[in-house]
Amino acid sequence: MKTIAILGSTGSIGTQALDICRRHPDRYRVTALTARGSKEKLFEQVREFRPEMAGLTEGFDPAEIPSDLKFCRFLSGNEALHAAAAEVEADMVLVSIVGIAGLQGVMDALQAGRQVLLANKEALVTGGHLVTDLARKAGKPLLPVDSEHSAIFQCLQAGGGNKAEKLLLTASGGPFRTWDRERIEKATPAEALKHPNWNMGAKITIDSASMFNKGLEIMEARWLFDMTEDRIEVVVHPQSIVHSAVVFRDGAVLAQLGEPDMRVPIGYAMSFPERIETGVQAPDLFALGSLTFEKPDEEKFPALQLARACLRAGGAACTVFNGANEAAVAAFLRNEIPFGEIARRVERALEKLDGLPANCIEDIWEADRRAREVN
Ligand code: MG
Repeated sequence: MKTIAILGSTGSIGTQALDICRRHPDRYRVTALTARGSKEKLFEQVREFRPEMAGLTEGFDPAEIPSDLKFCRFLSGNEALHAAAAEVEADMVLVSIVGIAGLQGVMDALQAGRQVLLANKEALVTGGHLVTDLARKAGKPLLPVDSEHSAIFQCLQAGGGNKAEKLLLTASGGPFRTWDRERIEKATPAEALKHPNWNMGAKITIDSASMFNKGLEIMEARWLFDMTEDRIEVVVHPQSIVHSAVVFRDGAVLAQLGEPDMRVPIGYAMSFPERIETGVQAPDLFALGSLTFEKPDEEKFPALQLARACLRAGGAACTVFNGANEAAVAAFLRNEIPFGEIARRVERALEKLDGLPANCIEDIWEADRRAREVN
């Protein structure tokens, strides 16, 4: 029996992780749950999974806690995140909150010697050097939950300790893959929110349409697998069946295939090195018939080049990339800027905030704050 704390339990990843817990009550005991603001959903989860602690980072009035949930300790704000990451008993901490708050959560969990299952991108994007250093010292390697990184991790396990020559990071290409530049420029939020294969939160869906998500994933892969950006290739694969692949020295390529269902990578991180039933069926290759692969169009999707330039620049460039993008996506979703403006805002922020340091978490917060202000 393993204990698990889930930071971000009401989001897309959190609810699917709880689905795995529900299928395997003999394997997992949930000890802490935190959410941002989804009070009712959190109460429902507490009722079902009976954790010792639960928290809302936006905070709530203690009088709102239903009387049948008094067995659980409720906390608010950063205190809730810290307690769930580092104080409550947990063998594993699933960090599935969205945003830079994930960085502190991951660092707290690693400092407390916990195994981190990482679904938050920002922790590695903004503080990859700090986080991987802590993980090394704790002797607890990060277990990726992002589907592409889980795929690479699985291929490396199958590779039996041989070093990868190259990583092939697959991308669906998003809803605008076949659109021309002018049409993409004027795309609406409703169009950008229509992802062809994956059902995810709004921010990540917009990032898929702009390929900023893939830029963030190049950064994640750089830290998770200690690979320089020139050895991480993006491969557009519209069917989202090959979740990524690894090229080895002998010319062999190992790939991981599966339905686009996050319960597979979540389940693998939770049960590693074993494999458990997740409720997902293997893809029917006969029904699929063919799988296709293309080079990404870096003219139409400038995020990829920008991400690589940030990794080469070092310092807080990746933090600026992330913060400026997050602010721009929020502005786009409020209908304040056209879709094409997202990448231009990020580019301007990178020019204006060139050379900021990222030596500690405070540097990163400062770079993030400034990146959000530039537009
Ligand atoms: Mg992904």
